[in-house]
Amino acid sequence: MKIILLGAPGAGKGTQAEVISRVKNIPTISTGNIIREALKSGTELGLKAKEYMEAGKLVPDELVIGIIRERLAQQDCQNGFILDGFPRTIPQAEALERMGVEIDKVIEIYVDDEVITRRMSGRRVCPGCGASYHLEYKAPKKEGVCDNCGDTLVQRQDDQPETVRERLKVYHEQTAPLKSYYAAKGKLFVVEGQEEVADTTRLTLEALEA
Ligand code: AMP
Repeated sequence: MKIILLGAPGAGKGTQAEVISRVKNIPTISTGNIIREALKSGTELGLKAKEYMEAGKLVPDELVIGIIRERLAQQDCQNGFILDGFPRTIPQAEALERMGVEIDKVIEIYVDDEVITRRMSGRRVCPGCGASYHLEYKAPKKEGVCDNCGDTLVQRQDDQPETVRERLKVYHEQTAPLKSYYAAKGKLFVVEGQEEVADTTRLTLEALEA
């Protein structure tokens, strides 16, 4: 099964991707994660993407299309995959088609902008071990300190309020048009993101079987 997860940044695509990946036994390909890894290890890709990412802008299409082409050619993608964070523009979707990739379903996880802003502004991460926290929903035992490794928690540069606003603007302008693009092909299924993660998961799995 070849699935695309669509939705604003912070809508919970990554969380749902983890579950689908387990249930369907197919890998999740997240361009955001691939770029963050490249940034951490200081590769050429990371250097090229850094400025865009930190400003909340999209990385140029050619770069991400190249990443996807390489990744989908790997053996573990032969029985299907979940795309989380790709495509994010119409040209990226067209490039995917030109690669001969036939998508089965596009699932949009819909969450209101206001809810997203609140969720993202409370997110904190540990620079040491990568653990993720939330001031409201998943607070660390001691304020500002990682439960796992004791490191001081930080806010991701692209989770800063003004960057979140920019990312949402970019989403509405450049990514949201993909909804009608896939709806016209009869592939779009919309899942309303719920307060409880487990409820969103149930609806997402139902949409997959529909
Ligand atoms: P994410 O973790 O999916 O929210 O991605 C974080 C950042 O990586 C985005 O704000 C973009 O700067 C970049 N990025 C990830 N995927 C793409 C994509 N498909 N096209 C362009 N930029 C992307």
